[in-house]
Amino acid sequence: MKLYNTLSGKKEDFEPQGDEVRIYVCGVTPYDDAHIGHAMSYVIFDVIRRYLRFRDYKVKYVQNVTDIDDKIIDRANQRDIPPAELAEKYTKSYDEDMKALNITKAETDVYPKATEEIPKIIEVIQGLIDKGFAYPAGGSVYFRVRKDPDYGKLSHRSLDDMMSAECAIGGDEKEDPMDFALWKASKPGEPFWESPWGEGRPGWHIECSAMSLKYLGDQIDIHGGGQDLIFPHHENEIAQSESFTGKKPFVKYWLHNGLVQLGEDKMSKSLGNLVTIKQALEKYSPDAIRIFILNSHYRSPLTYSEEGLEAAEKGVQRLRGTAFRDDPGGGKVFDTESYYKQFIEAMDDDFNTAKGLGVLFELANAINQAGDAGVSIGKAQSTLVSLGREVLGLKLPEPKNVIIEVPTLKLKIRTYAPIVIPEIVSALVNQLVEERLKCRKEKNWQRADEIRKKLTELGVVLEDTQSGTDVTYKSVPSEEALKNL
Ligand SMILES: [Zn+2]
Repeated sequence: MKLYNTLSGKKEDFEPQGDEVRIYVCGVTPYDDAHIGHAMSYVIFDVIRRYLRFRDYKVKYVQNVTDIDDKIIDRANQRDIPPAELAEKYTKSYDEDMKALNITKAETDVYPKATEEIPKIIEVIQGLIDKGFAYPAGGSVYFRVRKDPDYGKLSHRSLDDMMSAECAIGGDEKEDPMDFALWKASKPGEPFWESPWGEGRPGWHIECSAMSLKYLGDQIDIHGGGQDLIFPHHENEIAQSESFTGKKPFVKYWLHNGLVQLGEDKMSKSLGNLVTIKQALEKYSPDAIRIFILNSHYRSPLTYSEEGLEAAEKGVQRLRGTAFRDDPGGGKVFDTESYYKQFIEAMDDDFNTAKGLGVLFELANAINQAGDAGVSIGKAQSTLVSLGREVLGLKLPEPKNVIIEVPTLKLKIRTYAPIVIPEIVSALVNQLVEERLKCRKEKNWQRADEIRKKLTELGVVLEDTQSGTDVTYKSVPSEEALKNL
């Protein structure tokens, strides 16, 4: 397996340091609903985890929650609520979104919150002061960037190039404008914790160092995040962790995902062009959102588009249609080995999910052709479903097939959404389908068309096939609407 390491700027062979792969991914600052940019990052690292487990690696995963931050304090003040309440609300909202997107939480995963890890954070800051890498000033503590000769090795910039992000932060008490805060003295009215340097709160960068040290040890295998975190956040994490432990490298493989764009622009809070995960889920299935994200390489930027998501939704229907079509079960058996190999090859090459998905769609086409030709496709369908579900994290819910007896024809009822249809609703729909069949027999085309059109408007699609009528529920109509029809 090869993966692209931001640190070396090259694809490298993957060789974890111990018998379990230790992964740390930077988590959210919960001050608002998560958006598609978050979906992209966490879906990608979910697939990476899934694939490593699929290849029989043991994985230990840690992802923080930055539940105290300037943004949280500002937003809470605007709403006149305590910062902790705001953070809790949006942490919950984030968890709901991740669950909806089928992002797994394994039992061995840890999701620590900054506010619950203050003792470890203080320990690391104190250690950095003791070694001369940090100094207290004016109730805050700063990291001496120029003391670390390796600073800049991840973002591949020189110190002078980096005279940017941190320079504006912190007051005159800094020894050097490059220095960044490890601990921030609290202003009146702000939440604070006691520390050897007075009342204050941790800086963002130190949290990640402290939590990965605590839960994953001094040196880890993979650290992930968006490309926007390379500098200064991840550069600072390296400086802090390596200076504290004296061990290099802190992280063996740095993986960074591309960012989501809307048209030409980056999707961001400040540009006001965010699409939240909740908004996207109102229109598209979780599988479609995952396919849309995984259909481009994780290191490339992803341009959000409705057309792209609609195409992904069609792709989902195609995969499900193939995965759950009837198996003619003939004597000849469809062989998936070459597809399976290609899929693994794609994923082994720096998690090339776009190529992997392409292989799944080719496999789906081949299964359909084989099925049409009377070849047994059951085993191939299982392969398709297991790669889709286990590795790519698709839900691929099984359509519900219910064969209902009507006097003259057998109806095949199929639902593509994981929805529950109340009995009274399905009884009313069946009555209407029956009425429509009768109308057609009596050549009352007008009423027959009307029934079909109105049912479609209500989210129930009728399709006439050789064997009868297929009924697809895209949504559940109300009892009243059906009675008035
Ligand atoms: Zn981080």
